[in-house]
Amino acid sequence: VFVCFEGGEGAGKSTQSRLLVDRLRADGHVVRPTYEPGDTPVGAELRRLLLDPATGDLAPRTEALIYAADKAEHVATVVEPALARGEVVVTDRYVDSTLAYQGAGRTLATDEVERVARWATGDLRPDLTVLLDLDPTAGLGRFSGRDRIEGAGAEFHDRVRAGFLALAATDPATYLVLDARAPVAELHESVHVRVAELLGG
Ligand code: C5P
Repeated sequence: VFVCFEGGEGAGKSTQSRLLVDRLRADGHVVRPTYEPGDTPVGAELRRLLLDPATGDLAPRTEALIYAADKAEHVATVVEPALARGEVVVTDRYVDSTLAYQGAGRTLATDEVERVARWATGDLRPDLTVLLDLDPTAGLGRFSGRDRIEGAGAEFHDRVRAGFLALAATDPATYLVLDARAPVAELHESVHVRVAELLGG
């Protein structure tokens, strides 16, 4: 089973994925926690390049291709092998982040970004995507030091948020959309109930 957390900056993705991983392990499952970009040796280099303010502005296609390279490596060497071993894979960001940031955010044609991302991942799709939805003004307020992307303008982050919500609307059955302002424990319960259903059924 492949579960994915998505959302903008400061929405609580890493907190919720950590809580889910701990809970599933307590339930007796073997879990592989992971994230994008960066959870492979080459991915870590790509992440550094992508987020370093010294990188400066990248052409949108360049940025989309670097994220695609990170994904290709991630799926081939981490996600697919773990799924093949029967593990539960919980990832902090996946293809939807690319569609929202490099598509809706950077205003590249979303269908083109999607074709590249689907090719990179061999069209592997999550069984469930948890979207932690949050007003970007609230989310960005949680950070003091900003990376290259977090420092982008408010309109950019508004487009990203709308991009995520539009994706969730296209396939409601495989999404759980939660208001990220809810208490951490309450969000975690909602996520766990939904994932437990997947694992039980
Ligand atoms: O989730 P995390 O904070 O690790 O993401 C790192 C940065 O990469 C964030 O600033 C996020 O906005 C950016 N990002 C992006 N496009 C993606 C994935 C992440 O711009 N596809």
